[in-house]
Amino acid sequence: MAQVQRMSRLMVKTLRDDPADAETISHKLLVRAGYVRRTAAGIWSWLPLGKKVLDNISHIVREEMDAIGAQEVLLPALLPKEPYEASGRWEEYGDLLFRLKDRKGADYLLGPTHEEIFTQVVKDQCTSYKDLPVMLYQIQTKYRDEARPRSGVLRGREFQMKDSYSFDTTDEGLEESYQLHRAAYQKIFARLGLDYRIVSAVSGAMGGSASEEFLAPAPAGEDTFADCPNCSYAANTEAVTFALAPVEGAEHGPVEVLDTPDTPTIETLAAHLGVPASATLKNLLVKVDGEIVAVGVPGHRDVDLGKLGEHLAPAEVELVTAEDFEGRPDLVRGYVGPQGLDKVRYIADPRVAPGTAWVTGANEDGKHARNVVAGRDFEVDDYLDVVVVEEGDPCPNCGNGLKLDRAIEIGHIFQLGRKYADTFQLDVLGQQGKPVRVTMGSYGIGVSRAVAALAEQTADGQGLCWPAEVAPADVHVVAAGKALQTELALEVSEKLNAAGVRVLVDDRAGVSPGVKFTDAELIGVPKILVAGRRSADGIVELKDRRTGEREELPVAEAVARLT
Ligand code: ATP
Ligand code: MG
Ligand code: MG
Ligand code: MG
Repeated sequence: MAQVQRMSRLMVKTLRDDPADAETISHKLLVRAGYVRRTAAGIWSWLPLGKKVLDNISHIVREEMDAIGAQEVLLPALLPKEPYEASGRWEEYGDLLFRLKDRKGADYLLGPTHEEIFTQVVKDQCTSYKDLPVMLYQIQTKYRDEARPRSGVLRGREFQMKDSYSFDTTDEGLEESYQLHRAAYQKIFARLGLDYRIVSAVSGAMGGSASEEFLAPAPAGEDTFADCPNCSYAANTEAVTFALAPVEGAEHGPVEVLDTPDTPTIETLAAHLGVPASATLKNLLVKVDGEIVAVGVPGHRDVDLGKLGEHLAPAEVELVTAEDFEGRPDLVRGYVGPQGLDKVRYIADPRVAPGTAWVTGANEDGKHARNVVAGRDFEVDDYLDVVVVEEGDPCPNCGNGLKLDRAIEIGHIFQLGRKYADTFQLDVLGQQGKPVRVTMGSYGIGVSRAVAALAEQTADGQGLCWPAEVAPADVHVVAAGKALQTELALEVSEKLNAAGVRVLVDDRAGVSPGVKFTDAELIGVPKILVAGRRSADGIVELKDRRTGEREELPVAEAVARLT
């Protein structure tokens, strides 16, 4: 049986002041309530209370992943370079990747996400269509050298992610695996008690559900999304992010790559291409001989820049706006991994990021791509304030004025298609005896980020305020007095514990009731039970942390209420 957790023995030191460098509510409160401790920039230690919340979240995630038939594995975080070189991400990730060498000088990396390695595992383990579909997941430490990790565990350089991957032989199969994950995520976030929206990571104008993000509205969020107050429409406006996906079957123009030592501006690019640089450019479409060969797809990243280079025929290229996408969902294709991200962000709006606009791919001469990277080429804050949709713009669904809100990305689901399967030639023997190329999905949840997202959404002026299933305990019993109160508090705690209630009891000697109350509010367990003034009569006070409602009750009744 679980033990009563006694504050007198728990390693928890609460702080009255916010840490000097803390900017977000979750950063301040998780540190002050003794859940986490900063070890280095973006690198956090999880203390006993924090570890419990983290584990509770992992537990929910695990149950729901198991429920859809996903199998848990654990892959290494320390990875060889070669698979990432094969996929192109060793380069594409740029500064985001932690790279290191072993004693023999061989290159390694700390995994930022694991598409490559999972593909290899499945190539090794699954050889026939009978072995598929398969869904695999892990809850594991990830590493990304984020440019400005300053929001506490919201954006770590080391963080916990649940990542899963689906492997199917058909497009219908992939769709099914994707929908299973989508439904599992809905259950997970509902159980966590998070307020969330599912937004298409592809702009509404382009349709398609091939990538969706789960966003938790919160002022501390670094994503902006458009929300219709009138209908169910919600979309990510991270549309300053452009990825250029070549359209299959288009004519190839001659290759030309901008060869400039500086990141060219949109004006430079436009001049080079001989097209007007529109200040309101919302999306990028590249046409060659009237044929659209590449599209700027909001929310899509990690693209093969080289492919665009192949298509570019500068004299004939024109840049057009979002309206050109209307009714052409077929233009959205060929996109790939979800997690090349930060390396491949294209800012096409000169109002936002002057001096950053364009990226070119390497051509046969080996001239290299120059990428625009958030945090390196421009201030992340500038980027955050940029949205493609403006407040009050008409909702594509119902015409009502859109609202813009900040949110935290807590999950991301992707239909990857065959990009990684192509890279690693992942085929299985099909029903007809011929090899079939496998199609993949990848699905992430920020487990450690969810702790912070919950703190952001649920905290109040007094402190943290956890939803029941993730709280580090169900009841926080406070011994507000001397020996008599402590004795009663411990007695009630044992009774509750025996009934399966998770109890944290503040039995600290020499700590005033006032300090104990303040700490209980700060720590944020949903129910607070106080053994105080009326302990001699066996009367305790039961308080709801969220509503503040309080009631005096005989011990037996209080126990009954809580079990
Ligand atoms: P962001 O846009 O916030 O940088 P991402 O799009 O780069 O996130 P994904 O590659 O989609 O992240 O990873 C899957 C999930 O992992 C994200 O939805 C998020 O919840 C979580 N995550 C990503 N980066 C971090 C980080 N630095 N710290 C904590 N959680 C993270
Ligand atoms: Mg990122
Ligand atoms: Mg993102
Ligand atoms: Mg993402």
